[in-house]
Amino acid sequence: MEMKQLPEKMARMTPQRRVILEALRKSGNHPSADRVYELVREKLPHVSMGTVYRNLETLAEAGMIQRLELGPGPRHYDAGIKEHYHIRCLQCGKIEDTLVELPSGLDRAARIKTGFQVVGHELEFVGYCPGCAKNIGKIKIK
Ligand code: ZN
Ligand code: MN
Repeated sequence: MEMKQLPEKMARMTPQRRVILEALRKSGNHPSADRVYELVREKLPHVSMGTVYRNLETLAEAGMIQRLELGPGPRHYDAGIKEHYHIRCLQCGKIEDTLVELPSGLDRAARIKTGFQVVGHELEFVGYCPGCAKNIGKIKIK
């Protein structure tokens, strides 16, 4: 969900949160909480999964990271908070950034057409990543 909303409150930056944020940044992709947990444990061996999960949620609610709810399966997180769109592989679940830019004024156009007070929009590209597309003959298209 791309929302034009400013974070309501910055989350307090505890040492634990800093490690979590760093792990998310370094992961370079769009990890699930499980993956972030693995990375954080390299620095904080005694941290619990629940703690990592709660901190990710707090950071997301404060607008300091992005929560991605794309497709089936667990949520993913993104250290990138600038508006950008994702593409998801329907076979392996990989999520990548696209550099696709949309025409501006979409929200306004939707408001004019519907009368809704539009606060944002969701857009996800889906397809098969290059690795999976090579095996396309073996893929059962749902
Ligand atoms: Zn794939
Ligand atoms: Mn991203």
